[in-house]
Amino acid sequence: RPPHLPKPEWLKIDLTSTTTTRHTSDAVAGNHLNTICTSGLCPNKAECWKAGTATLMIGGNVCTRNCRFCNTPSGRPQPLDPYEPLNVAKAVAQLQLKHAVITSVDRDDLPDLGARHWSLTVKAIKELNPHTTVEVLIPDFQGRLDLVDMVLAEQPYIVGHNIETVRRLTPAVRSVAQYDQSLDVLRHIAERGFTAKSGLMLGLGETEQEVEQTMDDLLAAGCKILTIGQYLQPTLRHIAVKAYIKPSKFAQYKQLGEDKGFEQVVSGPFVRSSYHAEQYKTLQRQE
Ligand code: SF4
Ligand code: SF4
Repeated sequence: RPPHLPKPEWLKIDLTSTTTTRHTSDAVAGNHLNTICTSGLCPNKAECWKAGTATLMIGGNVCTRNCRFCNTPSGRPQPLDPYEPLNVAKAVAQLQLKHAVITSVDRDDLPDLGARHWSLTVKAIKELNPHTTVEVLIPDFQGRLDLVDMVLAEQPYIVGHNIETVRRLTPAVRSVAQYDQSLDVLRHIAERGFTAKSGLMLGLGETEQEVEQTMDDLLAAGCKILTIGQYLQPTLRHIAVKAYIKPSKFAQYKQLGEDKGFEQVVSGPFVRSSYHAEQYKTLQRQE
């Protein structure tokens, strides 16, 4: 096998495109915020930012963990910015988001692992934007369900936690996080009555059976929404792509997942946890 697989045609888009509206970048930069769109080198940035959608990343832009797929810098983070919750709320207002997606780096350095900062952020967004639905993509909080509850107490509309990969590959792909612990977090979210959502990356060497097993595990935990996308290696220092999954295969996984019982499966090469998040059926029902 060559060290780096050539990219297939369906993945050849211009990742360096700068066709963003000033509006989105001004709202992000003007409020001193970080986005996973930029830190994660997301291939959908031009499309999402033009549409006024961005996934804001709280807790700084340095993570205490070091997952082998992730482009966010790791190391010792700065102290939390006490103005960040309000600034996030202001950016959501400026962008006039109907649906705001928030995520964070992992803050294993803090006694509450960043849970209070999370809850203050959700609260601030809702206070300033009463008609915006809030989706949170939370860390595992080391499995401390009392900390998950601090975020849930602010009543986010959708609560995501990514499983990222199949059980067998988890130790090689994720740092610190464990497959069963992530399932426990999702189960807790669902048991508390929230819409639980998770995300899976393909192309890391998983088999079809393992993908199917992961779907079953997520469903058993009560997960309702699943996103499935192609892993793309951010730099040569990151874990290599083992396979480029065909668009037709992604379509089959969508069908399979929805047949198995997910309320919605968003599946495609460029799908990321927050891709077109504003279009969930769950949200449309609410309108
Ligand atoms: Fe940002 Fe998510 Fe869109 Fe990517 S898919 S650009 S992370 S909002
Ligand atoms: Fe990236 Fe892993 Fe940190 Fe999440 S926990 S920001 S995936 S290094």
